[in-house]
Amino acid sequence: MTKPTVAIVGRPNVGKSTIFNRIVGERISIVEDVAGVTRDRIYSSADWLSHEFNLIDTGGIDIGDEPFLEQIRAQAEIAIDEADVIVFLVNGREGVTDADEQVAKILYKTKKPVVLAVNKVDNPDMKEMIYDFYALGFGDPYPISGSHGLGLGDLLDKVAESFPETEEEIIEDDVIRFSLIGRPNVGKSSLVNAFLGEDRVIVSEVAGTTRDAIDTSYVHDGQKYKIIDTAGMRKKGKVYENTEKYSVLRALKAIDRSDVVLIVINGEEGIREQDKRIAGYAEEAGKGVLIVVNKWDAVVKDDKTMNKFTTDIRENFLFLDYAPIAFVSAKTKQRVQSLFEKVTKISENHALRIQSSVLNEVVEDAVARNPAPTSKGRRLRIYYATQVAVKPPTFVVFVNEPELMHFSYERFLQNRLRESFGFEGTPIRLITRARS
Ligand code: GDP
Ligand code: GDP
Repeated sequence: MTKPTVAIVGRPNVGKSTIFNRIVGERISIVEDVAGVTRDRIYSSADWLSHEFNLIDTGGIDIGDEPFLEQIRAQAEIAIDEADVIVFLVNGREGVTDADEQVAKILYKTKKPVVLAVNKVDNPDMKEMIYDFYALGFGDPYPISGSHGLGLGDLLDKVAESFPETEEEIIEDDVIRFSLIGRPNVGKSSLVNAFLGEDRVIVSEVAGTTRDAIDTSYVHDGQKYKIIDTAGMRKKGKVYENTEKYSVLRALKAIDRSDVVLIVINGEEGIREQDKRIAGYAEEAGKGVLIVVNKWDAVVKDDKTMNKFTTDIRENFLFLDYAPIAFVSAKTKQRVQSLFEKVTKISENHALRIQSSVLNEVVEDAVARNPAPTSKGRRLRIYYATQVAVKPPTFVVFVNEPELMHFSYERFLQNRLRESFGFEGTPIRLITRARS
C-alpha cells in the first residue's frame, strides 16, 4: 500500500527538525551512517498507532542562493506538491511573524489538509500562547513542545485523521516494478525513451495518495513491466526541481514503490556523494538493485576502463556488493536491451523462496566448515533456519543465545547463502532468534 506523506513546513528556527527527529524517533540505520545520510536527514518513514507514513522536513531543502523568502516559499510549495497532510509549524514564543504569514499565504492555495502546530509550548501554563495563531486561518492550533515531547500525540491523531482515504494500490504479481534513480542529468529520461522504443506503452496515473505520480506500463518479450514515477523524471520548470535534496526526495518515493531500483550513474562524471546516498536508501528499503553506468559512449576508454570503473563502484558502494553493474548508452542504445534481462533476473531473486530442507542443508554445511564462535566459554549453537519473507528474502536463524551471533559470522552465513542460491541483485536479511 502507498503510505501517506506528511510534510513539516515553517520558517527557520521554529523547531522543524526537532519535531522531525521526535516523530521519527530511534530509526537510526547503519546503512545511512555508512552513506553519511544521518547528518542531514530530511525524509524518513514513521508511524503513529497503526498508521505508517513518510515524513519530510522541508526545512532541510535549501535551494541555493535564493533569498530567505524564496526559500520558505519553495519549501511550502514542495510540501503542497509532495505531501498528503501538511504540518504548519510556528513558534509560540514569538507570536505570528511576517514570515509565518508568507508561509500561510502559500498554504491557502492548497486543498490538502493543513494542521497548525504551535511549538515551544514547554509547559501547560503556556497554553494561552496559541490563541494568536487562530489569526492564521487554519483552525485550532495544536500546542506542542519538541524539546519536551509534549502534545505530539494529539497532533499526530489529528494528522492521521486527515490522511486521505487509501485506495489500495493493486499490485499484480506478474508485473515487475522498477524505477530509475539518480542525480539530475545522468540520463534517466533518455534511458526510459531508449527502453520504450518499440514496445507498447501505457501511461497511467497512480491512484491513491501519490496523485502526482505517473507510471508507465509496458510489455517486453512477453514480460510485463511498470516503470515507477516516470513523472518524477520530467521537469515542470519549478525552481527547486534541480536541487539535490528535492531529487532525492522524489527518488525515495519511487524506491518505496519499486521491486528493483536502477541506480543510474553518469559514466562521464563518475560517482558522486549523492549517488551513494540514494543507493543507501535503496539498500535500506530492501529493494533489488542494478547499477547502471550511462553515457558509456562518451567515455574515453581503453581495455582497463571498465574494470577501473567497476573497482570504483565496489569501493564506493560497499554495502551493495551484490548489485550487478551494466555499462550502457541511452544515446547509442548500446546494451540498453540487456537491462531487461538483468531487471527480470534480479526481480526473480528478490522474490526467491528457498525450501526449508535445502536451506538447512546449506546452513549445516556452513557450520560444519566454519564452526560458530564461542564467547566466554559459551558456543553459539544454530538449531535451524527458515525463510520468513521474500522481497527481500529474509531468514530467521534459531540459536541458543542470540548475543553470541557476531556480525562477522552472520556475514559468513549470508555469503554461504549467496554462494548456494545466487541472490544476485537482491539484499538478503538474516535475523537471529532464541529458540523458545
Ligand atoms: P528548524 O530550523 O525549524 O528546523 O528548528 P530547529 O529544530 O533547528 O530548532 C530551532 C531551535 O529551537 C533549537 O535551538 C531548538 O533546540 C529549539 N527548540 C525546538 N523545539 C523547542 C521546544 O519545544 N521548546 C523550546 N524551548 N525550544 C525548542
Ligand atoms: P535526467 O535528468 O537524468 O533524466 O537526464 P536526461 O535524460 O534529461 O539527459 C541529460 C543529458 O544527457 C541530455 O542532454 C541527454 O541528451 C544526455 N544523455 C543522456 N544519455 C546519454 C548517453 O548515453 N550518452 C550521451 N553522450 N549523452 C546522454
